[in-house]
Amino acid sequence: MKRIFVAALFLAAVVLGGCGQNARQPVLYRDTDIAMGTVIQQNIYVRNDAEDGGTVTEEILGLIRRMEQETLSRRLETAEIYLINRRREGEAHLQISEELGEILMECQDVWEASQGAFDVTLAPVIRLWDIDKWSEGAQEGTFAVPERQEILQALENCRSGEIRLAKQENGYEMELPAGTELDLGAVGKGAALDEIRRVLEQREEISGGVISVGGSILVYGAKPDGSSWKVAIVNPADTASAIGYMSLKGTWCVSTSGDYERYAMVDGIRYHHILNPATGYPADSGVRSVTVLSDSGLLSDALSTACFVLGIEEGMELAEKYGAEALFVDTKGNIVMSPGMEECFTSAK
Ligand code: FAD
Ligand code: MG
Repeated sequence: MKRIFVAALFLAAVVLGGCGQNARQPVLYRDTDIAMGTVIQQNIYVRNDAEDGGTVTEEILGLIRRMEQETLSRRLETAEIYLINRRREGEAHLQISEELGEILMECQDVWEASQGAFDVTLAPVIRLWDIDKWSEGAQEGTFAVPERQEILQALENCRSGEIRLAKQENGYEMELPAGTELDLGAVGKGAALDEIRRVLEQREEISGGVISVGGSILVYGAKPDGSSWKVAIVNPADTASAIGYMSLKGTWCVSTSGDYERYAMVDGIRYHHILNPATGYPADSGVRSVTVLSDSGLLSDALSTACFVLGIEEGMELAEKYGAEALFVDTKGNIVMSPGMEECFTSAK
């Protein structure tokens, strides 16, 4: 319920001032649905003489669900990631789709650039922490902190450095060490935004729109009145409010990783879902949330997670390496931004 409320806050923020229609203006199509374990919100402007404008939100929802069911999910039996994680013993060379191969190539790049802070092979550690059960905030009595020894053992199977990917005619061949499993929870929503953008670009009748897949948002094209898209950034100390908003023109992707999204409280300590691959424990880098702005959805999503683990100084360097802008909220509520972010951010204070 809380997640739905926060998503509603995003919606309210991103469509500010865009609802008025007249005969000449594009038609606004809206849709709210659930996929990838989160709320999907679409606000898409379609030229008013377009014949099948109303089908666009359906097409986009179908695309998100297709990616989840065929490729990205580690929960659905039909998805490549699910099947890879349950491969037969000794099956080290796997044929994977071009879609998954390209996502994993970028993930490997961020793994290297972040010196392992972002790691898609954390699945055994994520399972140990039972993060799937935390969506509503697990409480004392329903969650036990794993033993250090168990965490160290699970970390032995986190071996991004040993993944090999080779492009082939119809996809990729992947070499994956025995015992290694994949979890694309930190990039799947961003990767979906890149595909959505491709669909929008192919449909000339679409002049602009905002699509949010949980904490990952695509703003596309232009608003009918020519004003900027407004994307609110949640206040980690009070998730029903915002610390401010970004004003964006054109097409951008924004992802936020925060310790308030999924967590369990035990003895007054907040155990959250963004893990430091160096320790196997929730990252303790002095930040509560990181928002990354990039022209790539996958990068904005991967970098927001990586920057959360690295903290402000190293996180800023990483974002800069990829030409992305970043905004950090630290544990004292201070806001630290890259220069490009300063240009588009307006504080709520
Ligand atoms: P991000 O910071 O983007 O990602 C954090 C998540 O990435 C963690 O939850 C963990 O899974 C993983 N992670 C943690 N630390 C790291 C690290 N250092 N490097 C790399 N990865 C890390 N949720 C449900 O409850 N039910 C579902 O059925 C469900 N299905 C999903 C299907 C898909 C295809 C995807 C992409 C997500 C799904 N989710 C589901 C949500 C998912 O499990 C994550 O909780 C969510 O994606 C976290 O996103 P975020 O933006 O809050 O955090
Ligand atoms: Mg992420």
